[in-house]
Amino acid sequence: MVRAIVGANWGDEGKGKITDLLAGDSDVVVRFQGGANAGHTIINDFGRFSLHLLPSGVFYDHVTSVLGNGIALDIPKFINELDSLRKNGVPEPRILVSDRAQVMMPYHAAFDSYEEERLAGQSYGSTKSGIAPFFSDKFLKIGLQVNELFSDEVLESRLRKVVEIKNVMLGFLYHKPALSFEALLNEMRRQREMIRPYLADTSAFLRDALKQGKTILLEGQLGTLKDPDHGIYPMVTSSSTLAAYGAVGAGIPPYEIKDIIAVTKAYSSAVGAGDFVSELFGEEAEELRRRGGDKGEYGATTGRPRRVGWYDAVASKYGCVMQGATEAVLTVLDVLGYLPEIKICTAYDIDGKVTTDFPVTHLLSKARPVFTTLPGWKCDIRGIKNYEDLPENCKKYIDFIEESIQTPITMVSNGPERQAILRRKPLITRSLS
Ligand code: GDP
Repeated sequence: MVRAIVGANWGDEGKGKITDLLAGDSDVVVRFQGGANAGHTIINDFGRFSLHLLPSGVFYDHVTSVLGNGIALDIPKFINELDSLRKNGVPEPRILVSDRAQVMMPYHAAFDSYEEERLAGQSYGSTKSGIAPFFSDKFLKIGLQVNELFSDEVLESRLRKVVEIKNVMLGFLYHKPALSFEALLNEMRRQREMIRPYLADTSAFLRDALKQGKTILLEGQLGTLKDPDHGIYPMVTSSSTLAAYGAVGAGIPPYEIKDIIAVTKAYSSAVGAGDFVSELFGEEAEELRRRGGDKGEYGATTGRPRRVGWYDAVASKYGCVMQGATEAVLTVLDVLGYLPEIKICTAYDIDGKVTTDFPVTHLLSKARPVFTTLPGWKCDIRGIKNYEDLPENCKKYIDFIEESIQTPITMVSNGPERQAILRRKPLITRSLS
């Protein structure tokens, strides 16, 4: 059985915590897209961790963690993250890296920064970790699959071709120093030794696991609105954030994905550029940002302050629908306990037309939020263990969101810790229906 945990919004919904929680009942956890450009924050018995590339199953002895072919494999960052787990006393995780994963090359981050610099005020708000140049090269067919590092002949001929193209761009477009073929060759020979012990045919491994009836979790990064096709293009990431892509990025049959959990946060937050219809500004925003998440709403990878706003039910309904969500998990609900009243954006007014359908990107700048205001619950709900014990107004807020996003909310998260989860309805698995 394959279950996907994906974001319904702009990312940072708390997927890491939900994956860490459900990994307890799983055999394999797979990252299938993205790279080390975003982070999952996980708080468990070993401490507080920011995972960027490693799947959120690495804390369990019984879980095999897989980096699928669809990811951007940054080898030094992968090794650093593993080292930081070891330093914190986490038992050595079992990790397999797809031999078809593409390698983040040393020049990708530099190209990312140079392009942001060139675009100046019109940049897309990249994290500058090389993701866009990496995926551009993959589809330009000048990237390298990690297995190719192990043939000197292939490596050398590929690098010669890449260096030629890159140096033209560096010289004439960006006016930056040229790449050295020799230095790159030596660096990639060094990196291949670092990654060698982890490589495997992960697609074959996963097919085998499925045959044996194992439970596989697909862990998404970012959320629907950052998907290159269905998100707010071009303020998106460069690989698909949708559960459907899990089949491609992990190398498994699409029909095996039975359960799609869309994680949605009880208020909105976003990083980077792009229209954000229910955004808050000024003191109201500052307060929510300060109180948000487990340490305020600041990026796990970049430390950038996140933009915050009221819950956007228009974007979230679309976010769940495009994921094909069978259920939703509402997270970070505890943060809203200080508010006497809470607004929910239930529709957009675009040129006088009110709609609950999420529009194409260029119309977003014209969208004005239509709000419904609900009473707050004005108390701390952290530490509550049963759903029934939540304050009435809090349950009404959850019911209202469930209705608006047209997706059953099965769990509610009321604190950053693994244990802070309230089961509202049984998990839905299509294979059982
Ligand atoms: P991800 O990328 O979707 O995994 O999300 P992040 O880890 O970037 O952001 C979620 C943040 O919210 C992290 O700091 C989590 O520790 C925190 N978090 C997750 N669930 C809850 C919750 O229910 N309450 C609170 N207060 N924080 C939470």
